[in-house]
Amino acid sequence: MRLIFIGPPGVGKGTQAKNICAHFGIIHLSTGVILRNEIKQMSSIGQSAKTFIDAGQLVPDDVLLKIMYERLTQENCYNGFCLDGFPRTMPQAEGLDHILKNLNQSLDAVVSVEVDEEELINRLVLRGITSRRTDDTHDIIRQRLQVYKKQTEPLIEFYEERDLVKTINGVGEITEITERILNTLI
Ligand code: AMP
Repeated sequence: MRLIFIGPPGVGKGTQAKNICAHFGIIHLSTGVILRNEIKQMSSIGQSAKTFIDAGQLVPDDVLLKIMYERLTQENCYNGFCLDGFPRTMPQAEGLDHILKNLNQSLDAVVSVEVDEEELINRLVLRGITSRRTDDTHDIIRQRLQVYKKQTEPLIEFYEERDLVKTINGVGEITEITERILNTLI
């Protein structure tokens, strides 16, 4: 199973992606987690990514494509994966197509999780209190939502043209939402 999870920040796609990966026994690749680890390790990627992340901006496409190329060509991805937070721009989606074509692989579905905007902001502000993420503050949250609308949301149409998109209502209990996703995938 090869999946992409797409959705605005705060929609719960990380939690759902993890549950779905556990169900199918596939690798969960969250670019947000990968980048925050790079920052923790103070690598050169981490140091340059931090400025973008803290400003609620996207890290440049070439950095992400390099990271994902390295991950997706590893053996533990051959049986399947779930991409969480990638691709986020058209060049990233095109780059991903290219990588998968070289690996002779194709996507099975794109899971688009939806929640209305006020609910998202409330969730993110709450998350910011416990997560201590430097980008979960009110102003940066608004910025990240704008970036999502402008740069990432158009990808839904791109994948709709290939009939890959499964739209999921992201409001409800975590387990209930996982069930909704599984029902569209099986
Ligand atoms: P996330 O944990 O997915 O919300 O990602 C946190 C931040 O990491 C985002 O606001 C971006 O600054 C950066 N990031 C994560 N994934 C990507 C990506 N695919 N392209 C560019 N920047 C990304």
